[in-house]
Amino acid sequence: MLKSKNLVFLGPPGAGKGTLSEVLLRDEKLAHISTGDILRAEIAQGTELGKSAKALMDQGKLVPDQIVADMVAARLTQKDCDEGFILDGFPRTVAQAKLLEEAAAKTGRTIDKVVLFDAPRDLLIQRLTARLTCRQCKASFNKLFAKPAKDGICDHCGGELFQRSDDSLETAQNRLKVYDEQTAPLIEFYTQNGLLATIDSSLPKDQGYAALLAVLNA
Ligand code: ADP
Ligand code: ZN
Repeated sequence: MLKSKNLVFLGPPGAGKGTLSEVLLRDEKLAHISTGDILRAEIAQGTELGKSAKALMDQGKLVPDQIVADMVAARLTQKDCDEGFILDGFPRTVAQAKLLEEAAAKTGRTIDKVVLFDAPRDLLIQRLTARLTCRQCKASFNKLFAKPAKDGICDHCGGELFQRSDDSLETAQNRLKVYDEQTAPLIEFYTQNGLLATIDSSLPKDQGYAALLAVLNA
């Protein structure tokens, strides 16, 4: 059992929030709430929400606060969140953080810890543009740092690997700019309320995971 179990993973794209979520979920029974995955599922289903989200996502822009906040609020009412949850990629703006506080209060939940994944810019770009994602289980691999055993095939489920349309160099650079402008102010926000803990996410996966566990059990 972790000391902190209601978690927010904060950090720039490519910092490894999804990757370390995946590892943590093998050991702990937590709900994984990735707003990016929920939006990509909407796109795959061809919903109206998906259509409007795709246009923004492909430019590296954020989907409107209220839309993602409503998705998360609905998800937090589900029973599996009782055991703890990882909010991966939400909140991404101070407005979203405030909407999260409201949604959490309504469901009687509180955030125990906000983990900031910190990594240098050039590494983030390298990771993003070489990233491969599994269509089926959403696991991520990397052409440079974490190759799958078989080209184009997911090690975990045999699903097909593809490059996300927002992992092109141009969009990745835009996403980092959006992070600096809109998401980075959350560092101050969560420092102020004493929830923030930082890990070095330039470390290899196993060391990064050790650092994460240390923070979650502190
Ligand atoms: P990454 O963490 O690699 O940047 P995500 O899968 O979390 O990627 O997000 C992909 C895209 O989905 C974002 O660039 C943005 O357009 C949209 N998105 C995801 N989460 C949010 C959010 N909380 N607020 C607004 N837009 C979001
Ligand atoms: Zn897979």
